[in-house]
Amino acid sequence: MYYADIKKWDVANGPGVRVSLFVSGCTHRCKGCFNEEAWDFHYGNPFTGETEDEILKELEKSYYHGFTLLGGEPFEHENQKVLAPFLKRVREKFPGISIWCYSGYVFDKEILADMLPKWEETKEMLRYIDVLVDGRFVEELKQVNLLFRGSANQRLIDVKKSMEKGSVVLWEQPEYVHVEVKENPNAVGIPPEVSGK
Ligand code: SF4
Repeated sequence: MYYADIKKWDVANGPGVRVSLFVSGCTHRCKGCFNEEAWDFHYGNPFTGETEDEILKELEKSYYHGFTLLGGEPFEHENQKVLAPFLKRVREKFPGISIWCYSGYVFDKEILADMLPKWEETKEMLRYIDVLVDGRFVEELKQVNLLFRGSANQRLIDVKKSMEKGSVVLWEQPEYVHVEVKENPNAVGIPPEVSGK
């Protein structure tokens, strides 16, 4: 497998700060694709054991919330063969990390119905992915204000819940607690002897 890019400090492709891996090779050829050069399966650099180690080392930094796979197409079968064992390494080293994957394939109609019965790698990939953003990019349905996706047909799918339920369950964005920090340090519980007031 080849890859086009590894983005560190990525905040655009899933919640929190992430490392994102853009793999090469995609057969969908969506009109208006943002990344046409990555259709070529040999675009960029070979994905080696050293590349895996580099990503795993980067993810050790405490500010990372997750890892994201994009393309290209991570679910092309030849890419799955490399990514399934790599995701296993990521999950084993970082059990609580958030793993997202973007795929042009439709989760229920193509990945579950067609790939899953045929390929062991698909089962492995789905075991480690938390959220799958599915579906081709459709230029006519492009909207700039969509959360973590480019066109309105694409879905943010909670993979584990969907597999348990046997039907598509959409990912729900967790609610974040808003903490207001006041200028007066006493207001956030700093004792007077420390704050000097
Ligand atoms: S699936 Fe993604 S990478 Fe592939 S052609 Fe469509 S937009 Fe481009």
